[in-house]
Amino acid sequence: MIDIPAPCRLRLDGAALVANWQTLNRMSGRAACGAAVKADGYGLGATGVATRLATAGCRDFFVATWAEAQALAPLGLSVSVLHGVRAEDMPAALAGFARPVLNTPAQIARWREAGGGMCDVMVDTGMNRLGISADDIAAGLIDGLAIDTLMSHLACADEDSPMNEMQRTRFAALTGRTAARRMSLANSAGIGLGEGYAFDLTRPGLALYGGVPRDDMAGAIRQVVFPEAQVLQRRMVRAGESVGYNATWVATEDTEVAIVNLGYADGYFRAFSNQGVVYFDDAILPVIGRVSMDLIALDVGAAPNLAEEEWLVIDYHLPSQSRLTGMSQYELLTSLGTRFGRPVP
Ligand SMILES: *Cc1c(COP(=O)(O)O)cnc(C)c1O
Repeated sequence: MIDIPAPCRLRLDGAALVANWQTLNRMSGRAACGAAVKADGYGLGATGVATRLATAGCRDFFVATWAEAQALAPLGLSVSVLHGVRAEDMPAALAGFARPVLNTPAQIARWREAGGGMCDVMVDTGMNRLGISADDIAAGLIDGLAIDTLMSHLACADEDSPMNEMQRTRFAALTGRTAARRMSLANSAGIGLGEGYAFDLTRPGLALYGGVPRDDMAGAIRQVVFPEAQVLQRRMVRAGESVGYNATWVATEDTEVAIVNLGYADGYFRAFSNQGVVYFDDAILPVIGRVSMDLIALDVGAAPNLAEEEWLVIDYHLPSQSRLTGMSQYELLTSLGTRFGRPVP
């Protein structure tokens, strides 16, 4: 096979990734700080992210599925599978490279019958997503299980909602009522609610990768992902001419335009049309016209020296680009396509 460098690539700032984890670890107070690396490390590459964070001192990792856990198995880390165990998952679950987060009475029964060992348990405290109820616990549903972590998940931690305190109170009421070694409630946004939400272990995902779930965390979190793409063609578009599909941008004066290797297939969606911004050194280059499947056009009037085959940095500052496009920061991160080269952070 010939090594063919991609025409778009992700620059991953590994130092920023580690700094974000250290910040979240500090904000977690006495609680340990883990890392959610599901969805391939939110799109950045789970193996690279987990390796880097483990070196920094992170000890607890969370994925959604057993396939994701298996991909991390060679690293020998402590991994929890948030979606628990379906019947189809049992061979993997009994292989011992991760432990399930049991979410339902059926999953608990399955785990007991198989003589499964250490597990985690999810209890629902008001989100009504995954988890057994506090009543199930009171009725003895998890008695006798070897439980590492009892966890719950906050519905509204990115807002100042009364739900937060309600869920925290319901969860705290379970302290000492189970055999769990540890309790864990907070995701990234939950860490921002204060140490009262940290319990024994926190589970940030988004903020590790540069997402800012609450405005009050903006100063503390660094950008980690910098998509870059290459110029294919530079052209002059005369006043009155249009650019791109459906001619949504029309030149009001003669305009220098660059066509760049990036589009829907890379996760650069339609919402960036006539809105996105790209940088060449200090020059700010607006996206003009509609994003194509694999291409965008830029007004490069501010970069007279920009040549074909030069590399540009796409503005992918998550909170601001989320506001700009109406896409969530999670959607932005996890949409970055497979054509990007993904270096180890
Ligand atoms: C995804 C997930 C997290 C991480 O959430 P972020 O908002 O990305 O910090 C934590 N806990 C559970 C149960 C999750 O599903």
